[in-house]
Parts: sequence; C-alpha cells; structure tokens
Amino acid sequence: MKIPVYWDERQLLHDPQAELSDGRLVPYAESPARARAVLEVLTASARMEIRAPEPLDEALLHRVHDAGYIALLRGAWADWLKEGCSGDALAGCWPVRGRRDVKLTRVQARLGAACFDAGTPITAHTLAAVEAAAAIGVSAAGAVAQGAGLAFGLCRPPGHHAGRDYMGGYCYLNNAALAAERLLAGGLQRVAVLDVDYHHGNGTQDVFYARPDVFFASIHSDPSTDFPYYWGRVDETGAGPGLGTTLNLPLPRGTQWAGYAPALETALRAIKGFAPQALVISYGADTFEEDPISRFELKTSDYQRMGAAIAELNLPMAVVMEGGYCIGALGANTLTFLEGLAQL
Ligand SMILES: [Zn+2]
Repeated sequence: MKIPVYWDERQLLHDPQAELSDGRLVPYAESPARARAVLEVLTASARMEIRAPEPLDEALLHRVHDAGYIALLRGAWADWLKEGCSGDALAGCWPVRGRRDVKLTRVQARLGAACFDAGTPITAHTLAAVEAAAAIGVSAAGAVAQGAGLAFGLCRPPGHHAGRDYMGGYCYLNNAALAAERLLAGGLQRVAVLDVDYHHGNGTQDVFYARPDVFFASIHSDPSTDFPYYWGRVDETGAGPGLGTTLNLPLPRGTQWAGYAPALETALRAIKGFAPQALVISYGADTFEEDPISRFELKTSDYQRMGAAIAELNLPMAVVMEGGYCIGALGANTLTFLEGLAQL
C-alpha cells in the first residue's frame, strides 16, 4: 500500500524576506524551496501518494491554540498595513519576564507579546500557508485514525516551536499538537509525540506539559548551546497530572549516529512504557551533517535506521515535517526516513 503524503500548494506562498542571524539580516532559511525539494522527491517515488488535505477543523484548532492568539495571527497582516508599516510584520517590542498584563493596541506590540524570537515574520500570505500546514498535520493524523499505518504531512511552515499562544522559530501553529489532538478526537486515549528535529520542540512540550494523555519525547541539541535555549533540559518532565509524561534527551553538538542511537532507544523505551495507541513524529532533517544552521552529523543512511528503529514500536504513525535546511539533501533524507518507518 502507498504512503499517503498530504500537501497543499498554498504553503509555498509564505516567503519572508530575511531573518536575524548572529546580528545580521540574512535570507530566510525556512524557504519555499525546502518544501518543493521534498515534494519533488516524494512525487517521484512509486511508494507515495500525494493527497490534498481536508479543510482545517476550527474546533480542533481552538483545542490547541488560544482564541486571542488565533485572532492575532489572522488579523496581523491587515493591522500591520493599517498602521502604515511596510516590509514583513515583526514585533517591535518584547515584554521582559514578569511584565504585567496590559491591554495592547498596536500590532507591533501585540506581536511582541505572542512571539519569542524574530524568526517568525508575517507576510501577506503567511496565514494561508500556516492554516494549510495545520490542515495537513490534522489530515495526516486523520488518515491514521481511519486505519492507515503511516501517513506523512508535508507541512510548511513547521510547527513544533509554536505554543498555545505564541509563535517562534519559523513556527506559527503547532501541526504536531494538532495531529495528536486529532488522534484523541478520533477516540484514542493515549498518544505519544516523538520529536527528532535538531531543535527542542518547546511548543509541543508546552501544549502537553500538564497532560497525562499525551507523552512527549524530544531528542535535540543541548539548549545551553542551541535554540530555543529556554526549554529542553532533562529536568523538564511535565507538571501536575502530566508529571512524567515529558522526556528530554539533549545531545551535544557534533553527535553522530553512534551517539544518537542510544538516545533514540531511550526515547522508544519510554514511549513503549507509556503504552500509546498511536505515535505522532515531528520529523526534522536538520540533524543532517550538512545542515547549514545545525550541528549534528547524521548521514542520509542514518534516517533509514532511525525510521526502522521507530517502526519496531509497531504503532500507527502520523509524521509531520518540521525543520531541515540542506535543501539539496532534504528530499532524500525525508524519503529515506519514511522508507525506514514503512520498513521498505
Ligand atoms: Zn529544527
């Protein structure tokens, strides 16, 4: 059977001009070319079947994200133009920790309160792309809920850095969290999310931090050296009824497969112990040795091993695309991972 791959052309419309990197404005790394590269390789594979997503389910969207935040996202571009701004919409002011909650009117200020970095500009077409990516995450999970053993959501922009009421790290809506909620809405009681992107999935962790029904495991670069810096340490293990349902496995820069595999085994053992009925995978290929913004050293063939190890859990799996910025290898790294998962 072919692997369903969800895709929507509107995701290509999100095309910010620049981002801040080491104090310089540089071309935006999370570019439309990334998604095009993956689509091209998956389209050429006889094992994949490209499908259009279902329209975004509003009720599900509101289960993951705050209503005020959704309204901000939807109105930001129009408000930005109304305020006479040009260029991409970015916050002009960020509240420091502990600022009291005040009523804000200017969109520059409201964006600052809903954003933890300068990597998430809003353009004329960002909302269309973001909602398409969210619908794709939900649709991949929907396919799994309806019996597919494996489905892939080719989401762009990615989502794992976006929390209930904030954006950051190229992410606006949390596609993986939406996928997990879709599986629960389909009648499952326990779902696990495994995040293998180079960067910690802080948004997904935050969304489910106090939840006993969703286990979140992340293997990522040590946050003392890498973005998102403020999340992803080993002592973050969940809270309240969700205590023990978060597992962080930070690894040092320069990690190769020999160092990665034991952490993956630990994550898989913990997931097994949680006894979920389905798995959502946040797949980022920025763990690749030639990734321009990341510092692990995995090879293309390692993604096959990674997929095969995860497949041993023998769970239905919805995969959503997160990062990966080595465009020349992104398609091959994604296809290889999916082939490993499908045990091809
Ligand atoms: Zn990443």
